[in-house]
Amino acid sequence: MNASDNLIVLAVGEIFLKRGNRRRFFAQLRKNAARAVRDLELDVSEIHGRLVVHHREARLDDPAAENPPIPIEAALRRLQWVFGVHSAMPGCQVPSDLRAIEEIAAEYLARRIGSKPLRFRVDTRRPNKSFPMRSVDVNREVGIAMFDRFPNLVLDLHEPELTLHIELGQALSFIYRRRHPMGGGLPVGSSGKVLLLLSGGLDSPVAGYLAQKRGCQVEALYFHSFPYISDHAKEKVKELAALLARGQGAIRLNVAPFTAIQEAIRDKAPNRQYVLLYRRFMLRIAEALAERVEALALVTGEAISQVASQTLQNMRCIEAVTRLPIIRPLVTYDKLEVVDLSRRLEMFEISTRPHDDCCSLFVARHPETKGRVEFLEQIEEGLDVEGLVADALDRIEVFEFR
Ligand code: ATP
Ligand code: MG
Repeated sequence: MNASDNLIVLAVGEIFLKRGNRRRFFAQLRKNAARAVRDLELDVSEIHGRLVVHHREARLDDPAAENPPIPIEAALRRLQWVFGVHSAMPGCQVPSDLRAIEEIAAEYLARRIGSKPLRFRVDTRRPNKSFPMRSVDVNREVGIAMFDRFPNLVLDLHEPELTLHIELGQALSFIYRRRHPMGGGLPVGSSGKVLLLLSGGLDSPVAGYLAQKRGCQVEALYFHSFPYISDHAKEKVKELAALLARGQGAIRLNVAPFTAIQEAIRDKAPNRQYVLLYRRFMLRIAEALAERVEALALVTGEAISQVASQTLQNMRCIEAVTRLPIIRPLVTYDKLEVVDLSRRLEMFEISTRPHDDCCSLFVARHPETKGRVEFLEQIEEGLDVEGLVADALDRIEVFEFR
């Protein structure tokens, strides 16, 4: 037996609300967490209703086994990206026996407390009630044993500086001392797949992250207008897609050629309507691709009235071409809130690198802010909509990032 941190207990938050689906959510989360820590030689097991990260050679069937310590900091960094994990508690395993718990708890604390006075308490949970003592009695017994051994500990139930958490299982129990807040949300994959319209800008990668956080597996689609838009823009999008892979292991990026469509619009439509027509084509192509890759919804980085194309009238004109739900995770965000999140996700540096934006290509004057569907449909009668869409779909390039 030893008292080094050799496991991390995961708390899963919201999954517990989904009664009927709880097993499925749990299995998905276990798979996602295991994938995230696999190359650290770690694995994830379920023990009395908790997911526990441990060394892949750890013996959990033997509560008294000397399991190898694990790289806690590296594992916590990975687990930040495993949605569905609410908090993570590094600790160690102990046999479910009061004397053994006291023994290891004392060793555990000895390594982590100095000689200065420290406000302290014990907090015990007994998830499956198989342990013969009540939690409050364990708190008292273990507490007394710790106060005996460490005279600098001072009981404080309300504002302790150090809490010794004990979680009692049938044969195996855990002790830990700190909860690290994690990303929360739902396990990626548990809500199905979505197709993210990913530009090189600030908003759409953040929108993709938020969709992942609600359990969506994201596939990305970028429209590229070469040579008007340089390949630098495409490189940015690839880098952003690669960042989104953190949340789900691997991500596919589809790059659809958009030049011919933009040229056709330039040649046939009134300038004020360009942006709305561009966006309607984007959504038509996205809908067709979504069907191909079995995505259930589209995701964009739009926010109400952030730019001219995002007035409510214009959103209506744009989404009129598709029957798929359009998820707009940022719809009510202020730009500053998006910037803040983008920085925290380490996307900001990439997103703000100067690049050309296909939505402003050929757009000379002030774009329409109060679009009308009938007018746009009338303009599109002069365009080979089906042919242009089919051609772009045919020439999609696919990249995958891990
Ligand atoms: P972003 O910061 O994501 O580029 P934006 O504020 O520039 O958004 P728009 O240019 O109006 O806003 O685009 C709105 C949304 O349309 C984007 O968030 C993105 O989801 C999608 N979009 C725009 N341009 C492209 C593109 N070239 N490829 C794929 N999606 C795009
Ligand atoms: Mg943009």
